[in-house]
Amino acid sequence: MTREIRGVAAAPGIAVGPVKWLASAPVTSASDAPGSDVDAEIVRADAAFEAVAGRYSAQALDAKGPAADILFMTSALAADPALLDQVRAGIRAGGPTAHSVTEAVTHFAEQLTALGGMMAERASDLRDVGQRVVAELLGVDPPGIPQSATPFVLAAQDLAPADTATLDPATVLGLLTVAGGPTSHTAILAKALGIPAVVACPDAVEIAEDVEVVLDGTGGLVELEPDAGRREEVLTARARQADAPTGPGRTADGHAVPLLANVGSAADARLAVELGAEGVGLFRTEFLFLGQKSAPTVQEQTERYAEIFRIMGDRPVTVRTLDAGSDKPLPFLNLPEEENPALGVRGLRLSSVDEGALLDQLTAIEAARAATGTPVQVMAPMVGTVQEANYFATRARDAGIDTRGIMVEIPAAALRSEHLGAEVEFFSIGTNDLSQYLFGADRMSSTLAALHDPWQPALAATIAAVVAGASKSGVKVGVCGESASNPEFACVLVGLGVHTLSMAPRSLAGVRARLAEVSLDQCGAAAAAVLAARTADDAVLAAGAALGRNR
Ligand code: PEP
Ligand code: MG
Repeated sequence: MTREIRGVAAAPGIAVGPVKWLASAPVTSASDAPGSDVDAEIVRADAAFEAVAGRYSAQALDAKGPAADILFMTSALAADPALLDQVRAGIRAGGPTAHSVTEAVTHFAEQLTALGGMMAERASDLRDVGQRVVAELLGVDPPGIPQSATPFVLAAQDLAPADTATLDPATVLGLLTVAGGPTSHTAILAKALGIPAVVACPDAVEIAEDVEVVLDGTGGLVELEPDAGRREEVLTARARQADAPTGPGRTADGHAVPLLANVGSAADARLAVELGAEGVGLFRTEFLFLGQKSAPTVQEQTERYAEIFRIMGDRPVTVRTLDAGSDKPLPFLNLPEEENPALGVRGLRLSSVDEGALLDQLTAIEAARAATGTPVQVMAPMVGTVQEANYFATRARDAGIDTRGIMVEIPAAALRSEHLGAEVEFFSIGTNDLSQYLFGADRMSSTLAALHDPWQPALAATIAAVVAGASKSGVKVGVCGESASNPEFACVLVGLGVHTLSMAPRSLAGVRARLAEVSLDQCGAAAAAVLAARTADDAVLAAGAALGRNR
């Protein structure tokens, strides 16, 4: 019988093919012979770092969207002066050149890991930098994607951005990582490329090279050595995906579910239109200003927002005001140093230290709306109380914006949704942060990835509470966290009473196709099954049965 192992669903879709492991990194040792000329070795090490940083930047220029941002950040890591100083010190102390790089990188990576959260995620990027510099110094091929004439499922301990960003979906059918979390770079990039991915799957280490697997990036499952029948079934499912329905989102019995896109740039908005998004459900405005040292002026903001509104035309756009702080630092805001930034002054809470930034932004959004005629609504991130909802709604109305909403991503807001709903016109549930605060689990921690599994029944129970409160106060509910991009879970969300779903543009087709196969009653049954399930594993199986999923 086919054996199944479970990881965490990170990018939807299904694939079948042989596993190929990422080529391993070159090894260095303290007992390698040191170079005879210390100064020449330092020049050689500096040149190797420069070459690697240059390659990341060149890849970044060729890449788009999140891949480009991540590659630029990694290029900066390869030029970090503190890292280079430590390597030079190692060489001066008599260490072999390549091993001095390994030691310095290990030292800094351990520090990043100890800091936890987003910093810990950067440790794997830094290790990738180190391995590429060592390969450069040793004159060997850098670790990377195996060369193969036939398509395969790529397996790795973890994938660095440089690996993921250059993947060709024609060759790499799926991604499987032992580590990583559903919000890691691997997951974000895999979704952007449309490659199914399963992460945080410790049992994957047992899979030998070339063993055939079915990788289900929607359910987070890997089936080893499928029989011919199962293989055929998956190939048919993939062919059906390619031939997916277009047009507005709806269930098989015609219940409309507007399918919207999450965007952070004009390029994302263009892709959203190309892939049939019915609007933008989450415009992450902070992404436009991430690298900026000084605050953008109202004029500058107006132009950037208007560019995106024009691309969307008369499709509605939900703009989220700056969600800065925690995992999205914005240098120009001079945020206070905090022990626990995810629990600190982030999102709307920033208005308590700098109200001007919110007022300027609302002015710019309204000016861009007036200039383009695009239907625009605004929402605030990180709202927990009625007072905060009222504060935001009042400021938005003062700026001339009539349709105002809040992100529901703090359990307090979920529990009091009826009362918060009295202050605004709509809710958008951010399941990434809602899971983080519901389970008290850092969304960037790969060790805690299982708690961010959308199939955790506590998440569905919380969403059900939001919908119940919202219907009493007459507000519409959307979901814009990563969970909405999982085609099976999207059906569960519809069954829970969610009105709209917003996701990375490349996830739209899979969700649209799955919704078109099921009835509203089946979605309701799947939602009830998830609410009744004891564990995430039970929830996946029970929802699959209710939705008539063949396994
Ligand atoms: C969320 O928290 O689910 C969300 C959509 O917002 P972000 O991922 O930008 O925090
Ligand atoms: Mg959030």
